[in-house]
Amino acid sequence: MKNRAFRYIDACRAEMLDLWREIVNMESGSDNIEGVNALADKLLGAFADAGARTRKIEFENAGSIALGVFPGGEKPPVLLSGHMDTVFKSGEVEKRPFTVRDGIAYGPGVLDMKGGIVAALFVARALKVAGYDERPIKLLFAGDEENAHRNSRAADVFMKEAEGCAAAFNCETGSIDNSVVVARKGMANFKVVVHGVAAHAGGDPERGRSAILEMAHKIIDLQSLTQRGEGTTLNVGTIEGGTVVNAVPGRCEIAVDVRFVDPSVLPKLKTRVDDVLAKTYVDGTTTELVDFAPRFQAMNTTAGVEKLFALWKEASEENGFGTPAPVLSGGSSDAAYLVLAGVPTLCATGVKGGKNHSPEEYAVVDSLFERAKLIIATILKLDALDA
Ligand SMILES: [Zn+2]
Repeated sequence: MKNRAFRYIDACRAEMLDLWREIVNMESGSDNIEGVNALADKLLGAFADAGARTRKIEFENAGSIALGVFPGGEKPPVLLSGHMDTVFKSGEVEKRPFTVRDGIAYGPGVLDMKGGIVAALFVARALKVAGYDERPIKLLFAGDEENAHRNSRAADVFMKEAEGCAAAFNCETGSIDNSVVVARKGMANFKVVVHGVAAHAGGDPERGRSAILEMAHKIIDLQSLTQRGEGTTLNVGTIEGGTVVNAVPGRCEIAVDVRFVDPSVLPKLKTRVDDVLAKTYVDGTTTELVDFAPRFQAMNTTAGVEKLFALWKEASEENGFGTPAPVLSGGSSDAAYLVLAGVPTLCATGVKGGKNHSPEEYAVVDSLFERAKLIIATILKLDALDA
């Protein structure tokens, strides 16, 4: 079975590369809903051609979810998941379309994570052609992961579709060092607005109350809430304030990103943030906390995740793909929701490369075929999860 599936992957190399090129060259920035939906339609067509039942789950203000289910036997299904959207604005494809140089592929989303989508589809196709009929195989791709499903219910859909699955592989950005993600930090965001009193900087400075000065003090206090030991970090990512150089600024706003390992730290952190904001440095300013809320759950290393990692490691070593290390990633992903649904999940099982979210993003072409084979080999071991 395994050898037949591997041979199919080898035979499909050109076709896999063609699909990779085709979908990297389709603009699908998270905000480009039309583009994401066109990609969803393209993939749903490919799933259906390969024998899957398909469903498109649409949202008013976000890209659709593409779902394909390849029928199988009585055992619980396997889930291969990820996302179709990228962080890039429209026009990026024209600037740097999919190209391959010296075995390395470039292009927007080539690593994060259009390569993973191609790998997932061909895992399903190879298993089907090889006669695998033990478990249904589900393919599930979100259209708005890069903006944390802000305008959709995609996280709920992921939890619902994952329910009852034997295992899940989130085919995200794979690491060049061969590691695989067994835990991810969660993310929360909030904004802070300081209201001061605007005044002429030359004629009337005493009447002014600088919102920027007040915020400057608060930024230092907020950043120092970082607790590296427990894995909680704060980052003031953006700042906006003032209107012109010759006026005392009447308003300043910041946006803050919080990463955490354990969600139970959030209420405590919120109290500390409230304390920071309650202290006033510049008399006459007032401070407001806006939208303190979790955006992404953390992915926890459950016993099921550990068992699935052991199978992945065994499959990797048996097939000459090296010894992978299990790692905690500070970045968030939908793997968190799959684990919350009770499903043993590995993340970052997609193509290997680096520099995602940047114009230097790259992926190793051979890792497309390697990862497809490794996922196949691990799926063929899943019975051991129940043991
Ligand atoms: Zn991604």
